[in-house]
Amino acid sequence: MSKKSSGIVRPIASDFRFHDHGHFTRIVLEITESIGFSVFQLAAPNRIVVDLPEIDWELPSKLGLNQSGVLHRMRYGLFKPGESRLVIDLSKPAGVMTAFILESSDGKYWRVVIDLVHQEQALFSDKVGASNRLIVNRLSSPDIKNLNEITGSKTQKVLAQGNNIENLQTPIPQPKPSDKVQEKQKKLPVIAIDAGHGGIDPGAIGISGVKEKDITLAVARQLRKHLLKTGQYKVVMTRSRDVSLGLRQRIAIARRASADIFVSLHADSIHKKNIKGLSVYTLSENASDKEAEKLAEKENKADLLIGMDLSHESRDVQNILIDLAQRESMNLAALLAEKLISQLKVQVTLLRNTHRFAGFAVLKAPDVPSVLLEMGYLSNRQEERLLRQFRYREKLVVAIGRSLDGYFSEVSV
Ligand SMILES: [Zn+2]
Repeated sequence: MSKKSSGIVRPIASDFRFHDHGHFTRIVLEITESIGFSVFQLAAPNRIVVDLPEIDWELPSKLGLNQSGVLHRMRYGLFKPGESRLVIDLSKPAGVMTAFILESSDGKYWRVVIDLVHQEQALFSDKVGASNRLIVNRLSSPDIKNLNEITGSKTQKVLAQGNNIENLQTPIPQPKPSDKVQEKQKKLPVIAIDAGHGGIDPGAIGISGVKEKDITLAVARQLRKHLLKTGQYKVVMTRSRDVSLGLRQRIAIARRASADIFVSLHADSIHKKNIKGLSVYTLSENASDKEAEKLAEKENKADLLIGMDLSHESRDVQNILIDLAQRESMNLAALLAEKLISQLKVQVTLLRNTHRFAGFAVLKAPDVPSVLLEMGYLSNRQEERLLRQFRYREKLVVAIGRSLDGYFSEVSV
């Protein structure tokens, strides 16, 4: 039942169902193979996070979550290589009562089953975080047979156990001094290209259904190719495939590579369908305008969307108080923003007040000048169509390359 892609056989999630049983809500994910999984809850906003081995998603596009009592919305996708994730937004606090996997009665499918029970916020908040995850082991058919023999029951039984395990996030290794020296000797500027969103977080959805995460990755790949071809730059990508990535991880990748510039690529969507144009953002404590502030708020939600457990981390990135070291980076970022605008205005439509400021978390590397490019509005039919075109994206990429040339003619690495 599994399909092959790039030689790897992965289980397929083929359906998602839920049923309100009154005192609890049952969620069922239908899957082609038995798998192990784990589930935990996160607050602010209240979410249920299900971690699975890497699987292929072939769920129906319409899942109709609105009808249910506690479920509000869900997202799914690759969390990191080897690990898929399902994130369910709750409309009211509901903790995990039990979780298990069982084989369907016809033996064709396996079912990941999670029962949620509505509870008071205080009780829910008490058990949040990845360290409180409930782990369910992979079950094979003989296990079930044995269990049935023992219990004498025809019903397949639960094999769920609650285990406290370490937070699965691995610390990002610091660069060895020798690596840094080698990079500096070559004296080529290092450009960190950050394709916004990815994996579980699709970003904005375009008027014809195109996802921001796919547009940003397409531009990132073209930009990498273009910059490498010039022989003038080294490039590091925060992601080069459809995978989820936290805002801190993006910054850490740039810093680990001793990046000289960080360019975060995005494409927004708003309800006013006639609005179009590109804009460039740099970090600031105070937003330049209400729209920029709202946009930063939206982009900063990425960590919530992919179910990052931030309960044990310092709030350094979210907290947009800017220190002295950062001011130097901010001045350089403003210089690059200026170069970007003068190159891009020749090629594409710009939004009025093209250079804007706001508290974007992803721009908060203290020592890497960082800019965020909103390349256009996916809610505008014309601009969405353009961003889907390779040739239009190539225009953007060439203009970005020229502005980097201009920047590094004034700033040495
Ligand atoms: Zn975005």
